[in-house]
Amino acid sequence: MISREEAILPRPTFRATRIAGVLLFAFASLLVAADDLRVYAIDVEGGKSTLYVSPTGESMLVDTGYDDYHNRDAGRIVAAAQAAGVKQIDYLVITHYHGDHVGGVPQLAAMMPIRAFFDHGRIFGTVNANAKTGYAAYVALRAKGPRTIVKPGDTIPIKGIDVEVVTAAGIAIAKALPGAGQPNPACASYQALDPDPGENAHSIGMIIAYGKFRLADLGDLYWNQEHDLACPNNKLGVVDVYMTTHHGTQTSGSPQMVDALHPKVAIMNNGADKGGSVKAWQTIHDSPGLVDLWQLHFSNEGGKAHNVPEAFIANPSEPCQGKWIELTARKDGTFSVVNGRNGFQKTYRP
Ligand SMILES: [Zn+2]
Repeated sequence: MISREEAILPRPTFRATRIAGVLLFAFASLLVAADDLRVYAIDVEGGKSTLYVSPTGESMLVDTGYDDYHNRDAGRIVAAAQAAGVKQIDYLVITHYHGDHVGGVPQLAAMMPIRAFFDHGRIFGTVNANAKTGYAAYVALRAKGPRTIVKPGDTIPIKGIDVEVVTAAGIAIAKALPGAGQPNPACASYQALDPDPGENAHSIGMIIAYGKFRLADLGDLYWNQEHDLACPNNKLGVVDVYMTTHHGTQTSGSPQMVDALHPKVAIMNNGADKGGSVKAWQTIHDSPGLVDLWQLHFSNEGGKAHNVPEAFIANPSEPCQGKWIELTARKDGTFSVVNGRNGFQKTYRP
């Protein structure tokens, strides 16, 4: 059930400051404790770019949005990095080689240092000329390395949080994660789609954990590969936050996967006319345990019936201002989500 609560809660007060014997709590701006995990779902208008900044100050960027548009996406990534106080990308994870994920790498590399590259290996399927150009530009940059090809079960070595690769190059982890592996009753109604020989099916997917807080970021993973993670047993376990897979396109985000993840909050990386499908939206909406869905854009396909209330949408009208959605998480599992457009925020407790 999606909450229609409109109340603006005070921003997180994770730290109180003692001045002249008086405890002052700051409400005016997002007061982030040094030991929080910070996540920025950056608006790249239907592509993907998510910045994770660990409590130790290391940064991991998952995808870079599009090329072109006069540095639009790279500029937004740099703005998020500045807001987070990081000057370089320590770990760049490219989930797969489609242009809305890898396209922004050259522009970003020209604006800030990228220290290490992680990807799934060779390119799969046929890609159009544009995507080929983007991929070639990425290959040239990662040659400056270090570059790592990840396999399921590998970790991204960012300090302060735990990042486990659960799928890559079409292969799921063989064993359930610790505490996971329960039978998934939703699998009884699973129906495969036609196989996808292309990049989406080979996307990197990760579970990101900080103490008791868990988040799923599965890139653009395809429906049939989700099945390998979710059925017959739920290999991933439950999460607090689900970063929507493939922008909320209907060939990802199966009920088998989403219900298994059982998120409290989902953040949808849709554009106005990209992703945000009625089907994927409804699956999230109906997911048991869901408290709120947040969206980067109003989805034109969704119309009035299949969009969340405007307070939860970072970019409700077009042309947009490229606002992000920011998340901060504490080790005890408490986390807050803030709409970068209007400051609307909610805190979720374990
Ligand atoms: Zn995509």
